[in-house]
Amino acid sequence: MRAIVVGGGPVGLYAATLAALSGMDVTLFEARTGDGDKACGEGLMPLAVSALGAIGVEPRGRPFSGIRYLDATGKRQVRADIGCGLGVRRTELVRALREAALRTGVSTTHSRVSSVRQQDASVTVTAQDGRHDAEVVFGCDGLSSTVRRSAGLEAQAGKSRRYGLVAHYEVEPWSSDVEVYWGSGGEGYVTPVSEYEVGVALLGGPGASFDDRLDELPALRHRLEGSRRVGRSTGAGPLSRGATTPGRGRVMLVGDAAGYVDALTGEGLAVGFVGARLAVDAASTGAFEQYPSAWMQATRRTRWSTDTLVRSTQRRPLRRALLPMASMVPAAFARAVRAATS
Ligand SMILES: Cc1cc2nc3c(=O)[nH]c(=O)nc-3n(C[C@H](O)[C@H](O)[C@H](O)COP(=O)(O)OP(=O)(O)OC[C@H]3O[C@@H](n4cnc5c(N)ncnc54)[C@H](O)[C@@H]3O)c2cc1C
Repeated sequence: MRAIVVGGGPVGLYAATLAALSGMDVTLFEARTGDGDKACGEGLMPLAVSALGAIGVEPRGRPFSGIRYLDATGKRQVRADIGCGLGVRRTELVRALREAALRTGVSTTHSRVSSVRQQDASVTVTAQDGRHDAEVVFGCDGLSSTVRRSAGLEAQAGKSRRYGLVAHYEVEPWSSDVEVYWGSGGEGYVTPVSEYEVGVALLGGPGASFDDRLDELPALRHRLEGSRRVGRSTGAGPLSRGATTPGRGRVMLVGDAAGYVDALTGEGLAVGFVGARLAVDAASTGAFEQYPSAWMQATRRTRWSTDTLVRSTQRRPLRRALLPMASMVPAAFARAVRAATS
């Protein structure tokens, strides 16, 4: 079976590798050249780590075993044990996945895809370098997916206007957990990615610069004082976008293209990898129509708990009350976090 994967981010590379392993003849189209860097929190939850292990991908990173939530001053905190997570620099994750794709015979073309058109038994993909036919197309082209729009699967954008900004600091990680600093208008996520570097992702409303957002989280700003910021900072958003359905016929959306999962629970990549497996399984058995319901079922709990948490904590009183409430019942809070991240 000839397969085209649109998008060479982590989920596209993962899907391409799985498809090749299942015997498909795979071409991956990626619009950009370079190291694949992008605004991402870089925390791989246990499910994402085991999904990568299943195809022999073991990126270099720094293990973590918990998520620690702190208020903006750092005085109140509550921790949830989550198992074996891994902090990985985005460029390292893409490097390791590119190697796996190459090993399994995926051929990569650097060309932007502009449309997909579906016939009875094939799909035509138009890219900068011409037209290409395949029996299945995996649309893994991220938040602003062209495949989703072109296939008529774009959903109305959600009301939440969250944006993410990410920077890296040269500093020895001070915690073996991922830390989430909880501010009045947004959060700061700190993920150790090596012995000498942490990634800092700041999420919140539109308009503010990285430094403005950091000023709203004094405990985090204090932690980073005196450490060197390395590389350029990256941004993403608005983040709340998705599809009416994750697939129609031979066009299947996977990863952020199928629907963004807010960084609040750190499950974006895990959901993407699970979706990739379901899409490849459906395509390789010819049961294309089974993918949308399989995806909905497999991702329902994570999407529901993440959406509920994002929506409810956008209301100021609840947002303010979350950490005080959680620190009164830490065991119940830890159970709720584990349920959302497994
Ligand atoms: C601030 C922030 C923090 C986050 N933190 C975490 C975290 O800690 N843990 C976690 O698991 N998730 C996290 N996420 C979510 C995670 O980053 C995404 O779920 C993940 O990157 C999705 O991967 P993807 O491959 O689907 O999409 P992308 O990474 O967006 O990749 C899409 C690829 O498609 C290519 N492309 C786009 N259009 C075309 C086209 N027309 N033709 C060809 N190629 C195209 C792009 O160049 C890109 O390489 C975070 C997200 C944000 C914004």
